[in-house]
Amino acid sequence: MTSPATPRGTAASASVPTPGHHVVIVGAGLSGLRTAERLRRLGHTGPLTLVGEEAHAAYDRPPLSKALLIQDEEPAAPPALRAAEKYAELDLDLRLGVRAEALVPGERSVVLGDGSRISYDQLVVATGSRARRVPAWEHHPNVHTLRTFEDCLALRADLRAARHLTVVGAGVLGGEVAAGGRALGLEVTLVEAQAAPLERVLGAELGAGVAQLHRDHGVDVRLGVAVERLGGDHRAERVVLGDGTVVETDVVVVAIGSVAETTWLAGSGVRRADGVLCNQYGATAVPGVHVVGDAAVMLHPGATTPLRLEHWTSAGDTAAVVAHNVLAAPEERKPLTEVPYFWSDQYDVKIQGLGLPSPEDRIDVVAGDVAEHSFLAVCSREGRVRAAFAMSMPAPLARCRKAVADGTALADLLAAAPWTPKKKVSA
Ligand SMILES: Cc1cc2nc3c(=O)[nH]c(=O)nc-3n(C[C@H](O)[C@H](O)[C@H](O)COP(=O)(O)OP(=O)(O)OC[C@H]3O[C@@H](n4cnc5c(N)ncnc54)[C@H](O)[C@@H]3O)c2cc1C
Repeated sequence: MTSPATPRGTAASASVPTPGHHVVIVGAGLSGLRTAERLRRLGHTGPLTLVGEEAHAAYDRPPLSKALLIQDEEPAAPPALRAAEKYAELDLDLRLGVRAEALVPGERSVVLGDGSRISYDQLVVATGSRARRVPAWEHHPNVHTLRTFEDCLALRADLRAARHLTVVGAGVLGGEVAAGGRALGLEVTLVEAQAAPLERVLGAELGAGVAQLHRDHGVDVRLGVAVERLGGDHRAERVVLGDGTVVETDVVVVAIGSVAETTWLAGSGVRRADGVLCNQYGATAVPGVHVVGDAAVMLHPGATTPLRLEHWTSAGDTAAVVAHNVLAAPEERKPLTEVPYFWSDQYDVKIQGLGLPSPEDRIDVVAGDVAEHSFLAVCSREGRVRAAFAMSMPAPLARCRKAVADGTALADLLAAAPWTPKKKVSA
């Protein structure tokens, strides 16, 4: 889909590159598309290429583990992030179904899987992440991971022929799949190696609240135990746990996190460590190479070291920052300022988190009750707000955003808030 660049007359600043400047974005998912959209909105009129390995144009992944998994009708296509007829407005050279295989920074070019090369002036890495797998289980056709639309279709089909589902990993994705299994009427076992679901994020007590949410919906939750092996010749029929118990199963979903999709950058000089290392502007140490979305290891507000987040909103936030910085003069560059945010829908409960807590933080439940799966909790350190979590309390959580961003004194947040502290969970 190539068409000549047309002036849009919306140049944001005098530092917008000359029209001939070619920006290449590798990865046509959420962060890649948002980068392209933002570049055009900021006035980039030069050539813009978007390369994506998947055959589909950018689609939304959150529904894959929620509505699309449980709805009766099989989805005919993934949920598009931008209507097909709206792509023309972006004047993109859109290359779908082809993988970037290598980056040659000395030549400022990207080598594609079809043997062609694309030269760039500025490159944006938006290749996201892939599901972490267990190689020893790969030969079982009923062992699934969930990252792509095709993964969703395959899992849907297996779930509909199953009686029992085992989910390995009780993070947000595992929790959503377990909830989906229950919605389909399956017996569900949720296995988690840590003492509580999301323990590293929410702490032990709030994590226990998540475990209880699943138990209240009939899930057999096994905590503090890992899967030792799967039994069964062709299909996995048994899940053998480290404590010696055996779970008979029809389907296994492995939800043990993801790995940044950066192998194509090997040998390029771009530094990788569970993702692509970049500065607060989204720039790598290799001139002209930037990174956005799930693939980026970046300094987020509230963090002391760069880290990789897999949050839907972070994909858009990093895309906005990098699009600006690709076009800006050095002195006009902007760092990432948006507070990290995630949500997860499990059963009829919305779990949400703002900011970056750490294990030393004090956690106060300031409204509602963890046992009722409806609460707001605030994490603070040395009296300053660092993060907030909620179940089924979206409006109170949203009211904490500024306090999290500013590191407001906890006492001031509580004094100004229309909720009464209920219970201190941990110090
Ligand atoms: C099932 C599921 C449910 C989720 N639910 C939530 C949720 O409820 N809340 C939330 O906050 N977040 C959620 N997320 C996370 C959110 O969807 C991601 O953070 C977001 O998709 C990241 O966007 P991205 O563009 O960085 O990566 P991706 O969406 O993974 O896009 C990267 C694209 O790059 C392509 N690519 C990779 N390598 C190459 C290459 N070498 N050459 C060309 N193309 C390549 C990939 O095929 C992919 O299409 C969910 C994720 C999944 C998988």
